[in-house]
Amino acid sequence: MADFKTHTILGTGVGIGLSCLAVTGNFITLSGSVLAVFLSAVASALPDIDSDSGSPRKFALSALEILCPAILMVSFSKDFSLENLMLSGIAVFFVIRYPLGYLIDKATKHRGVWHSIPMALIASMIVYLVFCRSAFSSRIFFALIFFVCFLSHLILDEICSLKYFGLSVKKSFGTALKFSGSSWLQTVFMYIVIVILGGICLFEQVAGGK
Ligand SMILES: [Zn+2]
Repeated sequence: MADFKTHTILGTGVGIGLSCLAVTGNFITLSGSVLAVFLSAVASALPDIDSDSGSPRKFALSALEILCPAILMVSFSKDFSLENLMLSGIAVFFVIRYPLGYLIDKATKHRGVWHSIPMALIASMIVYLVFCRSAFSSRIFFALIFFVCFLSHLILDEICSLKYFGLSVKKSFGTALKFSGSSWLQTVFMYIVIVILGGICLFEQVAGGK
């Protein structure tokens, strides 16, 4: 099994490469590319949020604890007072740190729902939606890079499940790059979430989103 360091090095490397191409092609700004590299590192660590070992889970949750309140405060900066924004940001921080962390511990197991292609899709669509104030090209790029780097984690896990140059496989083979969760209920729930998020993305565009 690849460790946290290997996953983040690979994901960040992919993120740097794609961001350089995107900046060269005027698809995103320079500051957007730096953010994209950070998102790449988060995406490449995120599947192991269900891991028993501390680092990936700590890193992924810490990144969410920083990103989510910041995005919330920027997104609603015109609609609410600074006091209300700060209180909401603090509330989101604590919700991610405690109830969400607890839920992930209790409701998921390693190489379960977080190691799946539908979850990569869900995470990417959430990234697309949370950057609602960014330019359309940036939103697409952030979502795309998140999906690719999330997928890089799953692919690397599968490669590490091969033995003897692919002639034999370990027991863990097939548990990372899959289209289902650890139970049929999780699988159905994931696909319902995909349909709902897909609908919101489409509605947002049709209704005049950027
Ligand atoms: Zn993994």
